[in-house]
Amino acid sequence: MARIVERSSGPQSISHGGETVTPPALESAPRLEALPADAEFALCLTHDVDRPYKGLRGLFFATRERPGYHLRTVLSGENPYWQFENVMALEDDLGVRSSWYVLNEQHLLLDRPPRDWTAPANWIQHLGRYDVTSDEIAGVLRALEEGGWEVGLHGSFHTADDPARIREETATLESVLDGPVTGGRQHHLRLSPPETWHYYRLAGLAYDASLGSTTECGFHHGYHPIRPFDDEFVVFPLTIMDQALPDPARRPNAARRTCNRLLEEAAANDAVMSVLWHPRYFSEREFPGHRDLYRWVIERGQELGAWIGSPRNYLEAVDADCVPGDESARAPASDPTGGASLATDREPSATAGSDPTTGGGQPASTDGGLERASDERAGSDVANGVSDRRGAR
Ligand SMILES: [Zn+2]
Repeated sequence: MARIVERSSGPQSISHGGETVTPPALESAPRLEALPADAEFALCLTHDVDRPYKGLRGLFFATRERPGYHLRTVLSGENPYWQFENVMALEDDLGVRSSWYVLNEQHLLLDRPPRDWTAPANWIQHLGRYDVTSDEIAGVLRALEEGGWEVGLHGSFHTADDPARIREETATLESVLDGPVTGGRQHHLRLSPPETWHYYRLAGLAYDASLGSTTECGFHHGYHPIRPFDDEFVVFPLTIMDQALPDPARRPNAARRTCNRLLEEAAANDAVMSVLWHPRYFSEREFPGHRDLYRWVIERGQELGAWIGSPRNYLEAVDADCVPGDESARAPASDPTGGASLATDREPSATAGSDPTTGGGQPASTDGGLERASDERAGSDVANGVSDRRGAR
C-alpha cells in the first residue's frame, strides 16, 4: 500500500557505506510485539509538517474554489496553515504528545536541475517551501522538543533513493534542534524499501513511519511494527492518514465509524496503530471537521485503554532491545487486573450502550482516561523530552 518508488520486498543485498546487508522479505521480517505496560494497544500520533505557510499558494487555490476566501488569506497575511500552537494546546489538554516530521526541501532554482523548473507542479510545491533554519520555524521546533513532543525528519520528495540527501537533511534538523533525531517519515510516503530504511539507519535514525497508504485506512501491513533488518531498526506501518478518511465535514458519522472500527480492531489485536493528521487540517476554515475528529480519536483511544504518544515515546516505553515475541516484554494485555481497566471499566457517559460514533457531541473523557494520560507522561519522562535513546546516540 505504500507509495513505493521502486519494486521489491524480497530478499536482496544492499551495499552502501561499506556495509552489505540482506534483509528478510518484508512479510517474514520479525515484528516488535511489545506494548507499554498495562496498555490494551498503542496509538502513535504523528503530524507531517508540509506547508506551515499558506502564502501565495492561496492564489492557486483561488482559481479552484472559494476565490474570495483564498484571496483574503493572501492579501491579509492571515496564515491558516500555522497550527503548531493550536495542536500543542489541544494535545496538552488531552495529556498526550505526538511526533512532528519536518521537511527540509531543496530549493527549486538553486538545488534542482533546470528540467524541473518548467513543471507547474514544482512551482506550486515550491511556493510552500519553508526553511527549517529560519528563526520562526527553528523556534517552534525547539518549543516542541522542550514541551515533550518529538521532532523528526520528513524526508523530502527526492530522498527515497538518495542516502546523502537523507543524511544531510537529518544533520540540518539535528543542528537546529541541537540534539539527535530519532526517526521520520517520507514526504508523500515515497519509499524504496528496504533501501530507504537502510539509508535511514546509516543516517543514525532508529525508525521510519512511511509504510502506508495515502488513500486507504487500515492495518494493511499488520498490527505490529516491523524489524526489516532483524535488528533495532523499526518500521511503523501507518493506519490512518487524514485525507484517506471520509470527509468529516460532510460525513462526520462515517468518519468516526471508520476511526472507531480501527481503534477497536487495534484493541482486539494488541496492535500498534499510527495516525497522521497534517497540521493544516486543524484549520477549521480550511478543513472543517478534522480538528474535532482528531480529538475524538484520542478520547476514544483513551476510553479503550490505549497507550498514546509519539513513536519515539513508544520505543522508549517498550525498550526496543527486547526480543520480539519475548513474553516478558509484552504488556499483560489480558491481565484482568491490568491498569488498562482504569479507562475501560466504566461506560463512556455520553455514549453508554450506544454506537460511540454517532452520539451527539463528544463522548466525555473519563477521569480514568485523564489520570492515565498524566501517568504516561510522568512515566515516559515526557516533561524532560530527553530520553536514554536520544542520549545514547
Ligand atoms: Zn509530506
